[in-house]
Amino acid sequence: MPKAKYFQKLSRGSLRCNLCPHYCELAEGERGKCGVRKNIDGKLLAENYGLISSVHLDPIEKKPLYHYYPSASILSVGSVGCNLSCSFCQNCDISQTTVDDYPWLRQHTVEQVLAYNDQYSDNIGIAYTYNEPTVYFEFMMDLAAESKKQGLKNVMVSNGYIAAEPLREVLELIDAFNIDLKAFNNEFYKKFADARLNPVKENLKTVRMAGKHLEITNLIIPGLNDDEKEFEEMIKWIYNELGEYTVLHLSRYFPAYRLQYPPTPQETISRLFEISKSHLPYTYTGNLNFSPGQHTLCHQCGTLLIERKNGYLTKIKAIDDKGKCLTCKTRILKYVKP
Ligand code: SF4
Ligand code: SF4
Repeated sequence: MPKAKYFQKLSRGSLRCNLCPHYCELAEGERGKCGVRKNIDGKLLAENYGLISSVHLDPIEKKPLYHYYPSASILSVGSVGCNLSCSFCQNCDISQTTVDDYPWLRQHTVEQVLAYNDQYSDNIGIAYTYNEPTVYFEFMMDLAAESKKQGLKNVMVSNGYIAAEPLREVLELIDAFNIDLKAFNNEFYKKFADARLNPVKENLKTVRMAGKHLEITNLIIPGLNDDEKEFEEMIKWIYNELGEYTVLHLSRYFPAYRLQYPPTPQETISRLFEISKSHLPYTYTGNLNFSPGQHTLCHQCGTLLIERKNGYLTKIKAIDDKGKCLTCKTRILKYVKP
């Protein structure tokens, strides 16, 4: 089990993990909030290193990334653990567990994961996803370094809850991000995720400033984060701090884990979709069959550029190999499939 990065020794065998803004202080034998980093003999160990819970070839739209090599496939890997504990987690079986309590993990080396690519000729790279990749930081970084050498892309699907220094390291290897912005309300983060909003906002700005591809997901939960005023405040913040063409996915909530509210009404999503679209032209909807929220239309001339069905069935309609709209020649996408 390899030694984890980003920790400092404290007194009497205890230590502090500096990987994420929880900065857990761990006595000998204790695990952090993420459940997968443990103090053994005064050293922090990455218990889930190389332990894979799932590996699949997925459409990139499933991450979701809609403006990054649309219609491409990506090898998606995950482990166990998460530094957040969202009451509504859809992946709680792998996020809210430990390596001891999840018997289906399979040990992999970096080379073994990369070998899956031999089966998939149209794969553009590796997505670190399913559980929170920050908590398998060391394996993600080792894998990302090797995959980059092979000319593959690296994608991180994250809650954005990582400390500044490891994020700088991540930015050297990860090409594209989908980051959750769960609500624009610190109380929500505290009560439903045991975290804070501010580090996520700061990290979104850092990723944007670094020039990496960034898309955001906001899961809409009825009565918890669907207040129109608060939602519009979030949209304006995205517009001002991250830019008008930031891609935003509004996702419909379904009951999961500890939160058993009824699913978000479709009307709520379509109302918030309209508010968002009036500021951010590249707003999409997910987890529901709402056609206007699936397609990509040129923000300049309104041409249908990319048609999507059920979110993942993607047809490129009117975009050239440089990512420009075929009608008005405006550059829409930076990354298109060769
Ligand atoms: S990564 Fe885990 S152990 Fe480290 S600070 Fe975050 S929750 Fe705590
Ligand atoms: S951050 Fe994601 S994986 Fe972690 S608990 Fe929340 S929803 Fe689940």
